[in-house]
Amino acid sequence: MTHIAFIGLGNMGGPMAANLVKAGHQVTGFDLSAEHLSAAEKRGVTAASSAAAAVKDCSVIITMLPAGQHVKAVWADLVSHCAKGALMIDCSTIDVDSARAVHALAQQAGLSSLDAPVSGGVGGAEGATLTFMCGGQAEAFAAGKPILEAMGKKIVHCGEAGNGQAAKICNNMILGISMIAVCEGFALAEKLGLSHQALFDVSSTSSGQCWSLTSYCPVPGPVPASPANRDYQPGFAAALMLKDLKLAQEAASASHASTPLGAHAAALYQRFTDEGFAGKDFSGIIDMLRQAPQD
Ligand code: NAD
Repeated sequence: MTHIAFIGLGNMGGPMAANLVKAGHQVTGFDLSAEHLSAAEKRGVTAASSAAAAVKDCSVIITMLPAGQHVKAVWADLVSHCAKGALMIDCSTIDVDSARAVHALAQQAGLSSLDAPVSGGVGGAEGATLTFMCGGQAEAFAAGKPILEAMGKKIVHCGEAGNGQAAKICNNMILGISMIAVCEGFALAEKLGLSHQALFDVSSTSSGQCWSLTSYCPVPGPVPASPANRDYQPGFAAALMLKDLKLAQEAASASHASTPLGAHAAALYQRFTDEGFAGKDFSGIIDMLRQAPQD
């Protein structure tokens, strides 16, 4: 049993903290939202009055917050309140530079740290089946892995500080581009009089095969569990896909990497969210691609 502080108990953090409780850990939590804090309390988390109060006597501190600015502010506040030698783990999806900056803060305070963003969404958080992509020193990874195992099924060490975030944005850039590619394939098939099922049967077993097609098919029918079968209720909201594509573009620009399709995918998801579909599943972009002239 480990005494763990959990800061940020929203859609992802709430169920993740509950899974730590289920695994037998003592979890003290804090969230700015009273509603989220009391929901977590009902799932066995001890509510604290502030983030600084939550970390008292904890050997592991986990943050699950919206963006880099929140993580930087919370870690800057917490490092002086943490017990000596504590391990800080940030599971939020944030930019690589902010991730590396908070590792440095922890190191200066004599704490160990991991960036450990996740893939798997709210369903993965509820079911404790998340994938964690971790960046940080080997010793920090060895200490954090058993804790993360209570919330996920695959825990990967991606290398040094910030590399978990690097893996996350590279993966999600591939996902955004591949979803658009699959949507365009189905939109073209419709114009050519080819049925969804026929294209699926061919592509899912040939060279067009990818996760966006076989597990998350953007048209109803071929993959009954995909959001296309429930009017594109998320799943993975377009706003979150746009966030990750923008993070990828920031990283590409800072590192002088060439990502022309990543840039185009970000522009298309920007248009989709601007048109009012930020809350739709990201596979719902097929409707925009069918209707709008391509730019
Ligand atoms: P959310 O908005 O539901 O939860 C974030 C929580 O942080 C909120 O409850 C908010 O009140 C709290 N918060 C903000 N600032 C705070 C502060 N200073 N102190 C304490 N609490 C604070 O967001 P979410 O969907 O849980 O996502 C969290 C992170 O996980 C994001 O970085 C997101 O990109 C990433 N992520 C989300 C998903 C998903 O499907 N929702 C999937 C993978 C990764």
